[in-house]
Amino acid sequence: MNVLRRSLLGLLSLSLLALMPLAGHAAPSAKASTTKPIRIAVLRFAHETVTFLPYDTTTEDFTYEGSPARGEALLSSSPRGYMGGFVKVAREHANVELVGIESPLGSKRGSGSGWITKDAYEHFVSKMIAELKAQGPFDGVYLSLHGAMGVRDVKKPEAELARRVREVVGPKAFIAGTFDPHGNEDADFLRYADLAFCIKYYPHYDGYLQGERAARMLIRSIRGDYKPTSATRKPPILTPSVLQWTGNSPWMDLVQRALVWEAREPDVYVNFFYGFAFMDAVDAGMTFEVITNGNPELAEHIADDMANTAWRLREELYYGTKVYKMAEGVALAKKAMADGKTPIVLADHSDRSGAATWLLQQVIEQKLSNTLIATVADEDLIETLRKKGVKVGDKFDYMVGGELDVSAGDPVHIVGTVKNVSGGMSRRGNGGSQLWVGVEFGKGNMLLISPYLHQNTEPEAFAQIGINPDDYKAIAIKSRVHFRRGYHDNGYAKTILLVEPEQPFLGTIHLEALPYKYLDVNKFYPFGKNVTYP
Ligand SMILES: [Zn+2]
Repeated sequence: MNVLRRSLLGLLSLSLLALMPLAGHAAPSAKASTTKPIRIAVLRFAHETVTFLPYDTTTEDFTYEGSPARGEALLSSSPRGYMGGFVKVAREHANVELVGIESPLGSKRGSGSGWITKDAYEHFVSKMIAELKAQGPFDGVYLSLHGAMGVRDVKKPEAELARRVREVVGPKAFIAGTFDPHGNEDADFLRYADLAFCIKYYPHYDGYLQGERAARMLIRSIRGDYKPTSATRKPPILTPSVLQWTGNSPWMDLVQRALVWEAREPDVYVNFFYGFAFMDAVDAGMTFEVITNGNPELAEHIADDMANTAWRLREELYYGTKVYKMAEGVALAKKAMADGKTPIVLADHSDRSGAATWLLQQVIEQKLSNTLIATVADEDLIETLRKKGVKVGDKFDYMVGGELDVSAGDPVHIVGTVKNVSGGMSRRGNGGSQLWVGVEFGKGNMLLISPYLHQNTEPEAFAQIGINPDDYKAIAIKSRVHFRRGYHDNGYAKTILLVEPEQPFLGTIHLEALPYKYLDVNKFYPFGKNVTYP
């Protein structure tokens, strides 16, 4: 049915194109087709699931003040992200109505929680489907997704959502999705949807741009001016996130190659999914998707070119970034401090719960001074401090962090003075609504305790909670690559050290040690022997 619809639209747009030069200006029928009133439903359901964490992500984690959101609240939910770009460009077109369908925003735990329960998925998806039916018909649907959502007993949650949306909107409507390059995708999503646009860079700079593209191409498709055809390739390469920095070759080279294809061929879009190894999924690993305007041969050709290039560069993709063991990294930080190569960033890339204390332990053991530790997550301790009415100047004597699971390590005894009480740092930059506590201890150190995992990506963010990062010589954070946005790309940090614990815990670069059930590491480079491609 899709094929029939698309070939009819293709013929229609060809005939319009043929008419236009003859008429010398836009024919009335062409004019009508570019301004015909259309209705687009807008949905959002995004999560990067670390399926090895021992606690599930529930309906409650997605339910808080402001989430779920619908109507204008949904459409304005991330003005600098996919949604912002989508809404901006959609509203530049005449006669386009956007309908914000009730959708959950991000989990309050960020990505620091495990499998989404089937109940939570069903809860939100069944409401979306019911509302689509009630508010339809629609000419198009925009799905703001991630791609590495892990739901218990649902193999491919994003493709499944697209399938159910397709059932409601029918074969004539067009469906577009936006994705994170950490998505674990195969060809299934585009079996039910028509268009996909994936962020290219890591740090993820171009969410807004991909949202803009999604709107423009969805509207062009609906109005018969674009006929999406796609090709998908999955070279068997599995990498931990910390190695995927696109500021470094050959990751940078693959992004550049995708950009060159988009530059030299009009109406071509190249999606490069690095994949997300900490989600145990049947469709994990690297993926390339290419979308063309009614040219399947070109899509196949570019997809092969991208996948074959990645395969050729596989060794450098895997071994290009140095990661230190915790004790070694902290010793190097101490030396850099003595040598004046400050500020220093110590990035624990492997902590997936936020509660890990391995880096804090080494800071204490090696007597590192003037270090800002942001953060160690401890929901229970934050609750205790809230009940006690914690305030600046209080003596602090508590066990902090650890214990959530074996990867978090042991709690650490901290004795010091409360110097900072705040609502925490938020992505919007206006401070958060959580309780965060900053404790001064040791020689000029500050430990920030938050209820959940927090990934600090830029020193400027500390201003939200009244801390000046320039007061410290080292900043110890929980981030893999995103911190390069504010610490590396602008030259802020003079020393950058990526660290992880000795043991191959759930965020490790030693993926072969993870207890995968659905993914077989032996089918991927560099873990399996004799893995070949194509
Ligand atoms: Zn990502």
